[in-house]
Amino acid sequence: MRIFTSDYIFPVVSDPIRDGYVMTDDEGYVLKMGAARELNPPALSVAEYFPGAIVPGFVNAHCHIELSHLRGAFKKGSGMSGFINQINALRESVDRNGRINALEAEMRSLYRQGVSAMADISNCDESFECKSHSPMYTRTFIEVFGTDPAETESIIEGARELAREAEEMDLDAAPTPHSCYTMCPELLQAASAAGLKSGFLSYHSQESGQEEELIRYGTGELAENYKGRGLPTPPVTGGSALKYFIDNLRKVLRSPIKGHVLLVHNVVIDEESIDYAKEWLRSPYFAVCPLSNIFIHNQLPPLDLMREKGLKITIGTDSLSSNDSLCIVDEMKCIQDNFPSIPFAEILKWATANGAEFLAKEDLLGSFEAGKKPGIVNIEGFDVQGMKLSEKSSSVRIL
Ligand SMILES: [Zn+2]
Repeated sequence: MRIFTSDYIFPVVSDPIRDGYVMTDDEGYVLKMGAARELNPPALSVAEYFPGAIVPGFVNAHCHIELSHLRGAFKKGSGMSGFINQINALRESVDRNGRINALEAEMRSLYRQGVSAMADISNCDESFECKSHSPMYTRTFIEVFGTDPAETESIIEGARELAREAEEMDLDAAPTPHSCYTMCPELLQAASAAGLKSGFLSYHSQESGQEEELIRYGTGELAENYKGRGLPTPPVTGGSALKYFIDNLRKVLRSPIKGHVLLVHNVVIDEESIDYAKEWLRSPYFAVCPLSNIFIHNQLPPLDLMREKGLKITIGTDSLSSNDSLCIVDEMKCIQDNFPSIPFAEILKWATANGAEFLAKEDLLGSFEAGKKPGIVNIEGFDVQGMKLSEKSSSVRIL
C-alpha cells in the first residue's frame, strides 16, 4: 500500500481535494482518497508528500510517435501546404535504426512525464515493437492516404496487413483515414468503414483554412499544392470539410454512425460543422493539439465555442515534426495562457478522463476512483493559490 499526499489532489471525476491524499494498493490500484487530516497517525507516518498537485496519468489523444526523429527539422509557420512539402522531403532523412531509437526515447519520456495511454498514428510498423513492450496503453491507428481510386483496395489490404502484424504483438490496431485532402472519396469511405469495424476512428479534421477552402471552393494553397504535383483534389462541395467527411461516412455506414470517432485539430471548426457532427456521429470526440497548431498555422481552435457546444475535448501532442517536445503539461499551459477563463480542472479532464473515454479505457484510466489504475502524476511548480499551472510547472510520474 502507498499513500500520496499533496497540496491538491485532482480526482478529475470529483472535486479537487485541498491538502489531500490518494491511497493505492501494491499494484497501483486506487483504494481511496480524501483530506489528509482524516488519515490516522500510522497512515500519516508512511504517507509520501509531493508539493504542488497530484493528478491521474495523462492520455495523449494524438501522436505520431514514429515521426520522433524529425525534432527540430521543420520550419515553423509554413501552413498546411508547406508542412506537406517538408514531410515529403524529410520523412526518411534518418535511417530505420535512427528512427526507432528516436521513438523509443520519446516513448520512455512520455511515460516518465505521466502519460498512461496514447492514441498513436502509424504509417508503418517501426513503432510496434516499442509499443508492445511499453507500460503505456496504446491504440494504433494505421493511417492511410492516396488520391488514386484504383489503388483503394491495395491500400486497404496493406493497412489490414499492418493491423494484423500489430495485433500479433498484442496491440490494439485498425485502419484509419488521414484527412480529406490526402484521399479520394473511395479510399476515405473504405478506410472509415474498415476502421470503424474496430469501434474507433481518428481523423485529421479542419486543421487549416486551406483545407476548408479546398473542399468548399476548390481553391487555395492546398489545392495548388496538389495540382502542382499532378494529383487529383477532392470534390468541391460548397460545404465544410467536416460535413464532407461525415457525408462520406454516411455513404457506407448506417446513420447515426456508431463508434468512437476522434476528430483531430479542429482549428477552423465552426458552429454549423459542430451541429452536423453531433447530428450524425453517435460518439464524437475532439482532439486539440495547440502547440502543433501554433507551430504550423499560428492559430488555435475555437475552444470557447467548443466548450459552449458541450464537446468532449481531448488533448494530443501531435508529432515532433510540428512540436518542439511531446509534453502534455506544455499543451495544457498553452491552452491556459491563451484561454485564461478555462479552469485548470477542466483542461485536466481533457488531458485525462476524456481521452480515456475515447479509448474506452475509462474503467481503468483517466481518473482517481476506487478500483482504477490510472497512474499517479505529480505536477511540480503548481500554482496552489491560483489553482493553475505556473510557468515552471512540469510533471513526473510517481507511480
Ligand atoms: Zn496528426
